[in-house]
Parts: sequence; C-alpha cells; structure tokens
Amino acid sequence: MVWLMKKKILGQKTLRTFCTFIGDVYGKIKDNDSRIKRQPKEDFGMLYVKAPAKINLTLDVLYKRPDQYHEVEMIMTTVDLADRIGLEPRQDGQIKIISADRFVPDDARNFAYQAAQLLKDTYNIEEGVSIYIEKEIPIAAGLAGGSSDAAATLRGLNDLWKLGLSLDTLAELGAKIGSDVSFCVYGGTALATGRGEKIQELSAPPTCWVVLAKPKIGVSTADVYGGLKLDGIEHPNTKQMIEAIENEDYEGVCASLGNVLETVTFTLHPEVITIKEQMQRFGADAVLMSGSGPTVFGLVDTETRASRVYNGLRGFCEEVYVVRLLGERNALA
Ligand code: ATP
Repeated sequence: MVWLMKKKILGQKTLRTFCTFIGDVYGKIKDNDSRIKRQPKEDFGMLYVKAPAKINLTLDVLYKRPDQYHEVEMIMTTVDLADRIGLEPRQDGQIKIISADRFVPDDARNFAYQAAQLLKDTYNIEEGVSIYIEKEIPIAAGLAGGSSDAAATLRGLNDLWKLGLSLDTLAELGAKIGSDVSFCVYGGTALATGRGEKIQELSAPPTCWVVLAKPKIGVSTADVYGGLKLDGIEHPNTKQMIEAIENEDYEGVCASLGNVLETVTFTLHPEVITIKEQMQRFGADAVLMSGSGPTVFGLVDTETRASRVYNGLRGFCEEVYVVRLLGERNALA
C-alpha cells in the first residue's frame, strides 16, 4: 500500500476509501458477533451510531388538547432492526445528508438534519457534519425510523462535538423535532405520555421474537390521527401491560396489546387487516399494528414458530423481518 502511494499509483483519497471499507467490514463482523452490542464506532474520523426501530405494545389516545396535539399514553420498546448513521466532521460549517435511499429527504426536511441544526444553533457550533444514513427501517411505517435517525444524530454529535449533554437534555431537545424523538434518545422500553415526549423507563419485556410485516403502502400519521373519533373507542389497558412487563409475564403482554389507531388505518388501508389476519393464521401468539401503521408485528416465543410465521407471510408481503426485542436502554448505548 505504502509503496503504491510512494509511486503515486494510489492517492490519499483511495487510501481513505480503502480504510473506510475495511472499517466497515470490521464493523459488520463485530455486529454479527453480537447483535445487541450498539456501541458507537469511530473509524478514520467517521462516527457510526445505530438507530433502532420501535414498536408500540400499546398506543392510547386520551383526549385532544387545546394546543391541538393528542394526549397519548404509549408503551414503546426498541427492536433489533436499525438504520446506521455515519457522522463525519466538516470544516465548512454545513450539514449534508447522504443516503442511497431515494425516499430519504436530503435537506432540512430530514429529521437527522434538524437534529444537527438544533445542536449547532443551541450550542453555537461552527463545525459542520456530513450525515450518512443507511436505511434498514422501512419509511413511513409506524416504526419511528426518522425519529430514531434524529435521536442517533443527537447522541452521536454529542460525542463528536464533545458537548457532554445528558440523555435527559438530548431528549428535551429531541422533543422539538418530533414527539417520538425523546423516546428514541433513550431506547429500551418506556411509557410515553403527554404528546409522547414524557418518558418513564420500564423494565425489559419478556424476551421473544418479533415478526414485522410492512404492506407496500406508506401511511401519513397526520391522516390517521385526523380520522380518529375519540367517542366510543376501546382503550388498551396500559396499567395491565405495565404489570405484565414487570412480572415478566409473556402471556400477559400478549393479552394486553392494544392500539386505538388500528381501526382508523384499517378503514383507510384494508390490506393492513389482511396482513394482521395472515399473521394470526400462521401462528403468532399476538398481533398488533405499530404506531399509525401500516407495519403489523407479531410476538412469537420460539424461533421455529417465528420462522414459520415469517415464511408464511413472505407470500403476501414483500417486507417481512424477524427481529428480537432490544428490551433495555443499555442495549442501545
Ligand atoms: P412514526 O412511527 O414516528 O410516526 P414513521 O415510522 O411512520 O414515524 P418515518 O419513517 O419516520 O415514519 O417517516 C415519516 C416521514 O418523515 C417520511 O415521509 C420522510 O419524508 C420523513 N423523514 C424525515 N427524515 C427522515 C429520515 N431520516 N428517514 C426517513 N424518513 C424521514
């Protein structure tokens, strides 16, 4: 390598690309080694942060507030399906978004961009950053992909720019970007109240497999909340879910799943009901739509049955994943 550089056959740029590639491969080998190790990795000036998806074990809407937000009560937990965010310092002060996914906005509409801008403005940071987003989480799916990218950017830039901010401060900042960002800053399992930004940590739910199936439609969260009629809705039993989690009671968790937005999304997109029915038919222990949908998830307590549900669904749905619950906050770190 050095000889090739001396002969000017290889330039600095090629060396850097080669090193980044090796760093990438090394990172992937380490990831496969331990699927839940989520330490940020720094290689050759680039800091990598994982941005995991979340599912809602419960989602309740209590009332509409005078400020037009809905007062919610949700139990969320992170799963082992994650975007990968690479953060590279820039000396020109700009924020750039780089992603191969054509549905990811590459400007100020991107939540990761907004996270970087917010930190720059709040703490007078002159340095810029290139934000590389490798999408694994389906977009507009009810899995909080954009919010998690923003949260990972906040955590990563806190390290890169040596700001020394606590997770509580990052979560408070995150709430300015979107209601799910605060939860994503902490990860793990939590009860979220207010408009979703008040976070109370819960213990990890009993370990199980999660099959995720996303029909080929994107759902607008605003449309779903807009279609919600609060009169006569069946509220999930949030307290019972918390007890089931605390008692490590898998059957109790399955019995307490509930999401008031399901009926609205089912009416707008009937194909989501079909996916839910198929998942039940193929043997998931309990099935629910996540967030405002359209992703439906099934809980399964053995790997063999999870594979059966996965294989059954592959015939009906293009995007199907089998993942594990990440459970606790430190699984994300
Ligand atoms: P939630 O569960 O929080 O309601 P979601 O999973 O339904 O979110 P996202 O994947 O976050 O939805 O995408 C919603 C919209 O956000 C997309 O239409 C996209 O244009 C925009 N967006 C902004 N930043 C991102 C990002 N980093 N990744 C994906 N989408 C983003």
